[in-house]
Amino acid sequence: MSTAAARRLNLVDGAWREPSSGEWLEVRNPADTREVLGAVPSMDAADIRGVYQASERGAEDWRATSPLERGRILLAAAALLRERRSLLARTLTLEMGKTLAEATVEVDKSADFFEYYGGLGRASQGELLSHERHDVTAWTLYEPLGVVLAITPWNDPLLTPARKLAPALIAGNAVVLKPASYTPIVALELARALDDAGLPAGVLNTATGSGAGIGEALLAHPALRAVSFTGSNEVGAGLRRTLAERDVKLLAELGGKNAAVVLGDADIELSAKTITAAAFAQAGQRCTATSRVIVERELFEPLTARLLAAAETSRLGPGIGEDTTMGPLIAPSQRDSVHGFVERAVAAGAKLLAGGARVDDDSTRRHGCYVSPAVLVDIDPDMEIWTEEVFGPVIAVLAVEHAAEALEVLNASRYGLAASIFTRDLAAAHRFIAAADVGQVAVNLPTSGWDVHIPFGGFKASGSSEKEQGLEGLDFYRRAKTVAVAA
Ligand code: NAP
Repeated sequence: MSTAAARRLNLVDGAWREPSSGEWLEVRNPADTREVLGAVPSMDAADIRGVYQASERGAEDWRATSPLERGRILLAAAALLRERRSLLARTLTLEMGKTLAEATVEVDKSADFFEYYGGLGRASQGELLSHERHDVTAWTLYEPLGVVLAITPWNDPLLTPARKLAPALIAGNAVVLKPASYTPIVALELARALDDAGLPAGVLNTATGSGAGIGEALLAHPALRAVSFTGSNEVGAGLRRTLAERDVKLLAELGGKNAAVVLGDADIELSAKTITAAAFAQAGQRCTATSRVIVERELFEPLTARLLAAAETSRLGPGIGEDTTMGPLIAPSQRDSVHGFVERAVAAGAKLLAGGARVDDDSTRRHGCYVSPAVLVDIDPDMEIWTEEVFGPVIAVLAVEHAAEALEVLNASRYGLAASIFTRDLAAAHRFIAAADVGQVAVNLPTSGWDVHIPFGGFKASGSSEKEQGLEGLDFYRRAKTVAVAA
């Protein structure tokens, strides 16, 4: 870091703070890892204690703030996000790598979260209940939990914090936000928008630093009431173990190994177009990305030909490039990991039809984290490429004999986030909806999440039972008190 100007500070108790240790974490551009975009504080345990002190005070103030006022502040933050759309999208693209078009969609959807939950400031804060005595009035009353910790990953570095902050804040909680260390800058810009919108001091506090380094201090504080985590199964399992004996709620959105099933009667053009978009958007770095394709044998050849053509016509480059359709992976380690998955799949007997190579062939891409989109066939369902999350632009295609076999293969995964089916047969679609062991099922649509009011989340190893988004998402961040009053 050459200049202090590129340093971004943490929002703590309504002020922008440097780390007490004087240590900083560099943030690099995955399209050219020589470029340092900025640096954020590498906090230590003393800083985290300060974060919680501020959060406890913030939680008291915010709990006493009317839900209407909370809502107004969230709506003002949404407006600021929209006003700052192009700056935020550019920041996001430089830091995370996704294309500018993808980043712009992310900024808008992040604003949607604050609009949707901000509007709920006017919704009912409880429910009137019947009682057998006519002189007794009974009701439920929603209360905030107190201090909530949000831990977020790098792949949607603005949207995932927004998905957690908006419901947590409208419910009246103070939030500690720990963003991923690859992408903290855009998360700090979100904190800035909320601060500028009038969020009182201490209601949102940010905590940057390596998760392995500050995780213990973040989780150990006695004021902590809930953790909302999105990230890997390994870290999620660690959080579960750490919190097991404490009265701290945990929401964990984890990995996926999402499948698209293509039946013999499917619209082949629609299937191929939708699957490639779902597999290769954000260079496959989405928990809902399609990574397995299960196709009835009669469509295997025409479908793989189309997937191959789409992979070969992808234009890899920096996300800010006008012609780019696929940006880099987040970091050299992720590039090497994805490349390694493809190499091991081929060594295990899979056939690579396209891609899977590191791309560093010209001056634009020489210093970036690029892997070309890959299509693999000759898959054995025991192969690592079929069972493990790759989190990169890789599709594996398996032919099956009939729809029942497709379902069996789909459900054999330990993950259960999203699945889609392509068919014109309504009855087959309904059988699939009923039997798919996943949290999100789509028919003739991609394996993506949907709008902010539609619950989001997976089954099995893909996460805990609580959903995010919508009214169900709000329930995690509040508790219901039951009241009965005799006249
Ligand atoms: P990750 O390594 O688990 O990191 C996620 C967050 O946890 C980061 O902020 C990280 O901080 C922090 N962290 C790491 N170790 C920690 C510890 N010991 N204590 C507390 N926090 C800790 O995941 P990732 O690589 O960023 O994200 C990719 C994964 O997220 C994939 O598996 C993907 O499927 C999953 N994901 C799931 C969903 C969903 O909704 N189901 C959505 C998006 C992504 P540092 O960055 O400082 O290490």
